[in-house]
Amino acid sequence: MQTTMLYMKDNYLKTFSAKVIAVGEDYVVLNQTAFYPLGGGQESDLGTLTYNENIFSIKSVRRDQGQVKHFIVETEKLLKVGNLVECSIDWKRRFIHMRYHTAIHVLSRYMQLEHNADVLGNNISTRSGRVDFDIEDALTEEQLKDIEVGVNKIIDQNLPIEINFIPRDEAITFLKKHGYQTDYIDMIPSSVKIFRIISVGDYDFASCAGTHLANTSEIGKIRITKRRSMGKGKERITLALD
Ligand SMILES: [Zn+2]
Repeated sequence: MQTTMLYMKDNYLKTFSAKVIAVGEDYVVLNQTAFYPLGGGQESDLGTLTYNENIFSIKSVRRDQGQVKHFIVETEKLLKVGNLVECSIDWKRRFIHMRYHTAIHVLSRYMQLEHNADVLGNNISTRSGRVDFDIEDALTEEQLKDIEVGVNKIIDQNLPIEINFIPRDEAITFLKKHGYQTDYIDMIPSSVKIFRIISVGDYDFASCAGTHLANTSEIGKIRITKRRSMGKGKERITLALD
């Protein structure tokens, strides 16, 4: 039995009930979860799981051998398959991840439109968000200032973020039409028949399994805190949120 990933449809779900479907020495697998597992450059959610007044802290959530494992201490003694548990997400942490993730989508699109730069990778934590870009020339201080101002202008438009599930072929046509990086489309395994498309107003459309805000107004303002060359033609931009 597979775990239903509740955050795919609802990024604002903070508590939920679930049934334990597998137990390991230090982890449980649930029939459904709103905990985001480590991946796609985003750190995992943390939080708690409660059973019979025992509260377990979730240390990390990771995909492993086709399962989504919620790592906690001493599960075997206290939890069994079939137990119904109450789960609660560390919302403060998750919400910061959401703010960074949506901000990074806006930044990535801005860089594509204004600097013809493709994204090579990204990383999201509670402390910062960063993106590596494929870009010909090193970015100057002035350009970085313009990027910061430009991205904040987009954010200030209070753009709504939508999640849509679109069949593969239709999604690929749609994404290409909207300028989404084709090498990212090619990376999606052919087993994925339905794409999850995240749209930021009419500004950005991306295939993404991450957690996002409902509106760019929740980002606040971005600040570019660091620029680093990662070798010729590769620039890393690090953001902080105010
Ligand atoms: Zn994303």
